Amino acid sequence: MEAWPVAAGGTIGVVNWVDAHTHLFSPSQREARGEIAERDRTFAEMYGSPEAKMATVAELLGALDAAEIRHAVVAGFAFADERDIEEQNGYLAEAQRCSRGRVAVVATVNPGLAGWERQARQALDAGAVGFGELRPHNQGWEPLEPAGRALCGLARDAGAVLLWHVSEPVGHGYPGKEGGISPVELCRVATEFPGVKMVGAHLGGGLAYYLQMPEVKAAIENVYFDTAAATLLYDEQSVARLVDLAGPGRVIFGSDYPLLSPRRQLQRLLGQLPGDVAKQVCGGNAERLFRIATTHE
Ligand SMILES: [Zn+2]
Repeated sequence: MEAWPVAAGGTIGVVNWVDAHTHLFSPSQREARGEIAERDRTFAEMYGSPEAKMATVAELLGALDAAEIRHAVVAGFAFADERDIEEQNGYLAEAQRCSRGRVAVVATVNPGLAGWERQARQALDAGAVGFGELRPHNQGWEPLEPAGRALCGLARDAGAVLLWHVSEPVGHGYPGKEGGISPVELCRVATEFPGVKMVGAHLGGGLAYYLQMPEVKAAIENVYFDTAAATLLYDEQSVARLVDLAGPGRVIFGSDYPLLSPRRQLQRLLGQLPGDVAKQVCGGNAERLFRIATTHE
């Protein structure tokens, strides 16, 4: 079965669910995790422990099947080093091919490296629809300085989506919390590049609260908010409140697989959101944003 029937506005529709925030690694990078951890500080923080889960595309497709989710948006990891990025993007492109379009790729870039534009264009040529999950401060570049502006310019010209790891300025620590973009920086960069669609991961680190300020609401209509790792960060009603603040067209379901189970995270949202809202949040919005080809039966 490839889709679930969902009650929506009194009718039964068929929905292709999309998990729009997942992470993959090649088997060889998973095997080399100890070695990579020695040269990449952020990787060491997040994946240095053998307990930290790393998944291949075959494992992802199994998890999607178990959740009856049709598509996923896959990212890798914001490696610092050019050769690690090369291998990562090669694997993501292969994952897209071998999944027969079930996964859409947001490729890895490090605008702090001299050769980053070549790698970025190569990834787009291979079919990537965006870049992410971006961790500017881990990689050592500034979103609002030339490197960040160059990335935004390239994304604007290519119609590519930018998926940012947003670091909450408050609350408990966790591996990989720091080093993303701050909600304030995301607001500024999105304001400066209204033509670039951006996703603030992890409910946007609180940025959605400021959509209640009319000038902020008007300035960042290009920002979407994903629900990745919501259950590890926020209380039960957080996604419903986010939908109230941002509107059902700007909230996107993502699990942060393999950190969390797509099945449980999707079930949770389907239990909380009205049917028509769930169809947008857990499928339709990501299909449009990431240009995911859909087959309705
Ligand atoms: Zn993240």
